[in-house]
Amino acid sequence: MASATCALCGQQAESEDVPLTWVTSVEDGRKLLYCDRCARENVRNIEGKLDSVYW
Ligand SMILES: [Zn+2]
Repeated sequence: MASATCALCGQQAESEDVPLTWVTSVEDGRKLLYCDRCARENVRNIEGKLDSVYW
């Protein structure tokens, strides 16, 4: 597998494993990863999308 890359800032994880602080979001069937910084800044957007999917 390719190393984990943040979907927003392009930061790459140091290992192939996704760091625990990163967030995985599935959008339109694609698996997107957000680094800890981007996840913190976009947590509301990510949760909002999840909510819209569930509802
Ligand atoms: Zn990022």
